[in-house]
Amino acid sequence: MNKQTIMDLDVKGKKVLVRVDFNVPLDEKQNITNDKRIISALPTINYLLDNRAKIILMSHLDRPKGKVIPKLSLKPVAKRLSELLGKEVKMMPDCIGKEVEQQVKQLKECEIALLENTRFHKEETNNDSEFAKTLANLADIFVNDAFGTVHRAHSSNVGVAQYLPSAIGFLIEKEIKYLNEAIENPERPFTAILGGVKVSDKIDMITNLLEKVDNLLIGGAMMFTFLRAMDYQTGRSKLEEDKIDLAKELLNKAKNNGVNLILPKDVVIADKFDNDADIKEVSVNNIPSEWIGLDIGSGTIAEFQNVIKASKTIVWNGPMGVFEMENFAKGTLSIAKALAEVKAITIIGGGDSASAVEKFGLSEAMTHISTGGGASLAFLEGKELPGISAIQDDKSSR
Ligand code: ADP
Ligand code: MG
Repeated sequence: MNKQTIMDLDVKGKKVLVRVDFNVPLDEKQNITNDKRIISALPTINYLLDNRAKIILMSHLDRPKGKVIPKLSLKPVAKRLSELLGKEVKMMPDCIGKEVEQQVKQLKECEIALLENTRFHKEETNNDSEFAKTLANLADIFVNDAFGTVHRAHSSNVGVAQYLPSAIGFLIEKEIKYLNEAIENPERPFTAILGGVKVSDKIDMITNLLEKVDNLLIGGAMMFTFLRAMDYQTGRSKLEEDKIDLAKELLNKAKNNGVNLILPKDVVIADKFDNDADIKEVSVNNIPSEWIGLDIGSGTIAEFQNVIKASKTIVWNGPMGVFEMENFAKGTLSIAKALAEVKAITIIGGGDSASAVEKFGLSEAMTHISTGGGASLAFLEGKELPGISAIQDDKSSR
């Protein structure tokens, strides 16, 4: 996957169209509640400024489904980006059209324009080629740095690459470097820790990882489907009845591949889905029929910690319990701490897992926290990422 990077191109004085991921969370008053995604785009933007490009940024925001929805405007992003750079960011009235064309034409070196939400046009998510061509006509060079959407084929990341010299930006380069290295060339033992809600969301990832890892630790609600596959009773815990057979197959596959798959031996259970419920810790063969499993137990935490300590590469996707409630956060917190302390490559993929690590204040201690939930999942599933495939190969290497 050797793609041309931004450093391979001469950008001086050129109009560079950059697909970034500015899909930030907004509150009701359109205040940005977390600007991590804007910050992640800064290395590429700063490089283009240093190299005197004319910069045209574009992104989607949320799902306006092809309609202009004023509260999904990128205006708050233009403001925040301008504060971060200490520099004007010209907000465009749209992403295509006469007025945008004219304003973009007048850009000088080191000036920045931000196009309006690409998903205000339904053509965007259809990967419409005319729409892509219109976007491409604004610029001389295309750079994709929106890792969060690389698993989608849309006009603003895939379509547009057909019409311009193209490269990946620093964020995508970094994401590929860490994720690819961990998956394809891991220092061993290589351990994956999986949790979260649904087995069905993560079947392809589990299947792919069973070809790669030495250890697979399973927590979260997902564990109950596996426990049922082993004939345990799981009370009212969240699980997928229709995936129990599949869980059996995955357990078999682990055995055949020599993967050390570890399921929890104890769980924290509650009599209702509530932080103030009655709470007990029981072994997995003792879950009463009316109770709900909401976190991994202390024996499991200790066992997982030991595996983590002995690992050299660890990929984590999915919280171990309902970490949003204090009384069920211990499993997730303990695993996060173990990852923070171990001398190993530690990679976090998945939106909720990343926000758990952030909430615990442990982000800095991880090797890499992937910025794209769905995109990192697609990566761990071993799927092709159209937003990366569309970029020109680097001809200088091999
Ligand atoms: P990610 O976004 O990291 O891929 P998921 O979206 O798959 O993770 O899952 C995150 C959610 O899983 C969290 O909101 C958490 O509350 C929930 N969860 C974890 N364990 C349980 C459990 N035992 N029962 C119900 N929900 C759980
Ligand atoms: Mg999630």
